[in-house]
Amino acid sequence: MSEALTMATAAIENDLKSAIRSIPDYPKPGIMFRDITTLLGNARAFRRAVDELVQPWAGGKIDKVAGIEARGFILGGAVAHQVSAGFVPIRKKGKLPFKRVSIGYSLEYGIDEMEMHEDAIAPGERVILVDDLIATGGTAEAAVKLLKQIGASVLAACFIIDLPDLGGAKKIEKLGVPVRTLITFEGH
Ligand code: AMP
Repeated sequence: MSEALTMATAAIENDLKSAIRSIPDYPKPGIMFRDITTLLGNARAFRRAVDELVQPWAGGKIDKVAGIEARGFILGGAVAHQVSAGFVPIRKKGKLPFKRVSIGYSLEYGIDEMEMHEDAIAPGERVILVDDLIATGGTAEAAVKLLKQIGASVLAACFIIDLPDLGGAKKIEKLGVPVRTLITFEGH
């Protein structure tokens, strides 16, 4: 990577990092919640995050952007508009009205299910997955598997925040999907 590119990346990381609010012990003791509502409310930071998220793929053809409920909807909708792609919601079980495909995934306590409409993506369409943050990668892993199950070509998974200590990005890369993150925070 050239020095100029490294510097630009560091500047962007600092800029975005300062727009995120960290709340200790939310929603439970020991968790440092990374609150992106302050970034979303800052016009310049929001635009910068949206522009940077899919920057490596913006020059190529992207058919759909898939966003994970709920913060992935806000970012994914803006990214889809930016790259002139369609938007596909990946939702919690029981929210989508038409025929669905679903997948179970593990949470810290128990399991949950996420769903997509079965006709949301045509086989072979080029799709980018978007969410605000990757921690253990369990949520994104399920989303990637669901997208592949209906025949999507998953170009990348993009997140504003990475918690590298939890290993999520590596989990997604093992599925053969490149991961882009803009900011890292130590710990969880
Ligand atoms: P995971 O499946 O462990 O990668 O968790 C990712 C999902 O949980 C994302 O949808 C995040 O929005 C949310 N999440 C996990 N940890 C945090 C955190 N420390 N702060 C904010 N959101 C989080």
